Amino acid sequence: MNRFFLLFTILINSLYAFSQNSIHYSISVPSPKTNSYEVSMAIKGIESDTITLKMPQWHPGYYQIMSYGKDVKNLNLVTGKKSTAQVEQANFNTWNIFGITSGEITVKYQIQTHREFVANSYVDKNRAYIIPENTFLYIPGKLNISPTVEIDLPEIWSSIATGLQKTSSKTYQAEDYDILYDSPILLGNLESLPAFEVGGKKHQFIGYNIGEFDKELFNSRLKDVVQTASDLIGDIPYEEYTFIGIGAGRGGIEHLNNTTVSFDGNQLKTEKDYNRVLNFLAHEYYHHYNVKRIRPFELGPFDYENGNRTHMLWVSEGLSVYYEYIITKRAGIANDEMFLSNLSHDITELENNPGKNYQSLAESSFYTWRDGPMGTSGSDPEKAISYYIKGPVVGLLLDLAIRNATENEKSLDDVMRLAYFRFYKDKNRGFTDSEFNSLCEEVAGAALTEIFEYVYTTKALNYDKYLSYGGLKLEKSESSEKTIYQLTIDNNASDRQKEILNGIVGE
Ligand SMILES: [Zn+2]
Repeated sequence: MNRFFLLFTILINSLYAFSQNSIHYSISVPSPKTNSYEVSMAIKGIESDTITLKMPQWHPGYYQIMSYGKDVKNLNLVTGKKSTAQVEQANFNTWNIFGITSGEITVKYQIQTHREFVANSYVDKNRAYIIPENTFLYIPGKLNISPTVEIDLPEIWSSIATGLQKTSSKTYQAEDYDILYDSPILLGNLESLPAFEVGGKKHQFIGYNIGEFDKELFNSRLKDVVQTASDLIGDIPYEEYTFIGIGAGRGGIEHLNNTTVSFDGNQLKTEKDYNRVLNFLAHEYYHHYNVKRIRPFELGPFDYENGNRTHMLWVSEGLSVYYEYIITKRAGIANDEMFLSNLSHDITELENNPGKNYQSLAESSFYTWRDGPMGTSGSDPEKAISYYIKGPVVGLLLDLAIRNATENEKSLDDVMRLAYFRFYKDKNRGFTDSEFNSLCEEVAGAALTEIFEYVYTTKALNYDKYLSYGGLKLEKSESSEKTIYQLTIDNNASDRQKEILNGIVGE
């Protein structure tokens, strides 16, 4: 770089900085027993006399309107004597500040938490689980600002777990608001399991009240999950990854370099328990590829006010369920019986749901905002299905179709890998429906028309045809409540059929 260019760059950078807002948040938990915490937001470089502040309506990864703005209490301006600035609440998640003369303001507010759940903040005397969408107000149109966050850890607690980048002992920074909102924070007397390395990167499980269990066995299996999942794609894109256990409960949310998971190690007693919990952790871990990086076009940049609708949660969620089964099987945590029983359960749920005749897989994704994550919260649950259930079933048929068309040379693994390198690494964007479908057909070297009818229509699935490619059979039995479906391995399978099944289960 020559001298003239260097000077020029400094000049441009300083002009740029002058015209940019800077935003600094501070979080403190002065009284955990009140289930609330305090936030201050200092904004500098304001160029007009009025600005608007908003609280997000939802949390990417949990596709439901959460109305986080309703938890904001006592929002006030911290003003100097000469300030004429005033605040006016426009609706439950919007505040207008007007009369700004000094180019900077600070607002303070409390967040009142109500219930222990993975998609909202929750504070009590033992810990503070802080969801950024439930905490940090943003300026509409200014989501590219790089905010800093200062965390004042209460003296009664020892640790902080977050994916945010640390810049000093108390301060963290996010590149922009998509990163800020992707970085939950857990404060408390947390327990860390020993860190392990996969692909030269540090991985660690850290959590609140994680319970009594065989921690060495659990940690080594978690490492096997990370190794198997990252081998599937062949690239580890983060510097460090943290599994953040938020306490007992249900559900997890995926992020770029961490996941927050409900976790209670006291439940880890039998092999079945390990299979269930590690399936769940494999699912959340695999999401850092599938949905955070391998993603539908519509899922980024995020619209924190209105939500982002896509037809492809069957890929992002459904195939992550299919891959959780595959990862635990290939990692040696699940056996054939557990692997097949997971898929048999999904087939049973799907085939006993009358909604399969009304709603396609693509529609279940698009209408999840109305119907709920399992398709059961809308006005007519009998006419809805869940992409968590039909997604992995169609994933199995798609994988079998690709393997059959290529003599087991290619598989759904190649589709996911190609999607990662072609769209995320090369183009840094998501794929459209037709780009994903074309990618599957490119890998298969054949049309997959019927598979995509299973996605976009309610056409009945031809199990016998696709399962036979891998030497699998579907047996039916009747119980008083429903028809039970059970996948079994055909003892008379040919070498080719066995080879295809072994390709899937990793033998
Ligand atoms: Zn998921």
